[in-house]
Amino acid sequence: MEPRIVPLIVRESIEERAAAMAHAMAVECASERPLLVGLLNGAAPFLMALVRHWPAAGQAGLEYDFIDVKSYVGTQSSGHVELVKDTRVDLAGRDVIVVEDIVDTGLTLHHVLALFKDKNPKSLKVCSLLKKRVERLHEVPVDYCGFEIDDLFVVGFGLDFDGIYRSLNYIAVLELPDGKEPE
Ligand code: 5GP
Repeated sequence: MEPRIVPLIVRESIEERAAAMAHAMAVECASERPLLVGLLNGAAPFLMALVRHWPAAGQAGLEYDFIDVKSYVGTQSSGHVELVKDTRVDLAGRDVIVVEDIVDTGLTLHHVLALFKDKNPKSLKVCSLLKKRVERLHEVPVDYCGFEIDDLFVVGFGLDFDGIYRSLNYIAVLELPDGKEPE
């Protein structure tokens, strides 16, 4: 049997929320050249939605870049995150907003923020499309959050399961046929 995907957040709601978040960030970020840094591949569609909805007056100065990380949560409870692609842009002295698809345990962002702090940005904020209502391994500051969701495995709008469902333009809960949890 195929996994079932149950729509959770429709495209219109995501776009509306992305527009509101882009406006809030543009107003609150004093910089004329804010830098959005997305985590590949999951945050790419959300980052592009933020760029599309950024107020016209600030769009010319808005920059974006991407990093790629690999997370290992094996036998070590603390887990480990390895940077496999760094930014092209130098973060020193910049107003940086990290753009993530979803915050679950907080492990990924905890490591990314530590790495980025060492690069001496002028300011460092976090924007995530989704945040799970769970007890986190690492408490991370999420300055801008799109939607808080229950502890469900979701796909779509950048989020995948084994490489698929990423290109759905809405967010859905993935239900495996035998009731197993996706890993
Ligand atoms: P964390 O490090 O906060 O535990 O999780 C961050 C990463 O885990 C996300 O960037 C995402 O790649 C993956 N992740 C966590 N929860 C989900 C989920 O519900 N669905 C999908 N597709 N990925 C998830």
